[in-house]
Amino acid sequence: MKTRGEISSKQLVPLRSVVHDPMSHGRLYLLGDAAHIVPPMSAKGMNLALHDADVFAKAVIRQVEEQDASLLDTYSSTCLRHVWNYQAFAAWFTDLMHDSGDASYQGEFRRQIARAEFDRLYASESANRLFSEFLTGLN
Ligand SMILES: Cc1cc2nc3c(=O)[nH]c(=O)nc-3n(C[C@H](O)[C@H](O)[C@H](O)COP(=O)(O)OP(=O)(O)OC[C@H]3O[C@@H](n4cnc5c(N)ncnc54)[C@H](O)[C@@H]3O)c2cc1C
Repeated sequence: MKTRGEISSKQLVPLRSVVHDPMSHGRLYLLGDAAHIVPPMSAKGMNLALHDADVFAKAVIRQVEEQDASLLDTYSSTCLRHVWNYQAFAAWFTDLMHDSGDASYQGEFRRQIARAEFDRLYASESANRLFSEFLTGLN
């Protein structure tokens, strides 16, 4: 609840997107947020971290049980294909959400472009299906 004299304010917080490419160097392997940061709008950070852990765990088991380093050797490239795909989705969706609201942020032209893209998500079954696939992590 607001107290008397309280002043509301709004600030734009810069969002950081990072991908360390490659995600390994020698015997050092980066997983999760240590390897990549995605904007929060997409809700993909934990999902990507779990995917990295799954790929890495299988690679370590293969190395330990069969002395086969092939999955460890391809750990970075296997994960990065997935990471860049979802980083692209996260960057697109974050821009869309930001641009479609307040025109003082990126201007009226970008706002109208974003709103047209937003409308397409509801109007087009194909656009909606692709969006749903990204949200549920099927891509
Ligand atoms: C507010 C918020 C909401 C989020 N919502 C979602 C969501 O809805 N969906 C989604 O997919 N992702 C979401 N995320 C992102 C997600 O939480 C992260 O991407 C994910 O937790 C990354 O996992 P991680 O294991 O790489 O790192 P972390 O979960 O950060 O784990 C790293 C661990 O290492 C420990 N640590 C750090 N330094 C040291 C040290 N020197 N020694 C020992 N331990 C250390 C930390 O204490 C921590 O426990 C959200 C993040 C935030 C902040």
